[in-house]
Amino acid sequence: MTAEVLEARGLHRFYRRGDDEVAALLDVSLIVQPGELVAVRGPSGSGKSTLLVLLAGLDEPDGGAVYIGGHRISHHGGRDRAELRRRFVGVLTQTSGLVSHLSVRDNVELARRLRDGSHATPRDELIDAVGLASRANAFPPELSGGETARAGLAVALAGAPMVLLADEPTAEVSWAEETDLLRLFRELRPEHGGTVVVTHSAAVADAADRVLDLHEGRLVS
Ligand code: ADP
Ligand code: MG
Repeated sequence: MTAEVLEARGLHRFYRRGDDEVAALLDVSLIVQPGELVAVRGPSGSGKSTLLVLLAGLDEPDGGAVYIGGHRISHHGGRDRAELRRRFVGVLTQTSGLVSHLSVRDNVELARRLRDGSHATPRDELIDAVGLASRANAFPPELSGGETARAGLAVALAGAPMVLLADEPTAEVSWAEETDLLRLFRELRPEHGGTVVVTHSAAVADAADRVLDLHEGRLVS
């Protein structure tokens, strides 16, 4: 048992490809301190998405364990992992996770209700904070890349999760938008929780408290 906000201990993940085994992650350990924004940087194929889905409890490691607020999220059934994720984790992936037939406002409302975040930042305040007040009635297919990332961030933060996890949130945006988005991550990250952003972008270093480099499945310092 540990009371760290987010801890990964000795994570391994192998994928089978035909007769070959791909080592996507090798002995990756990290601890995120309260309030900390950690960037995990690495080239394409280095294992960033693999690490993120393990931290989120969306996939199971072949070795090691993930703890969120002292609760082990790995090595549970899918339903237990989903319940821990619902309570504690906001996830932002490149496919955004937005429900396409709901407006931005309703997407944020839905996420907020699912997390039972009655004590959290009100929906419209959160939409305003990510700069989408004028787009609250828009539907996801009508949004630009930058707006989609902002909406995804509002949904991930709805109901005030303890842990915020993002997979290449600035991959689809212009350089100017990237700077703005990273500033939003800094401003809006869980105040006493933990944030992990995985990215191949060098620009993330300015927004992060700590940068870890991932190469061929290993953290290098
Ligand atoms: P990144 O997000 O840094 O681009 P990934 O975590 O997606 O890297 O992939 C790490 C390695 O694992 C790559 O070699 C990739 O081809 C491989 N990989 C990822 N997912 C699978 C999968 N479902 N099946 C087989 N190989 C995979
Ligand atoms: Mg990836």
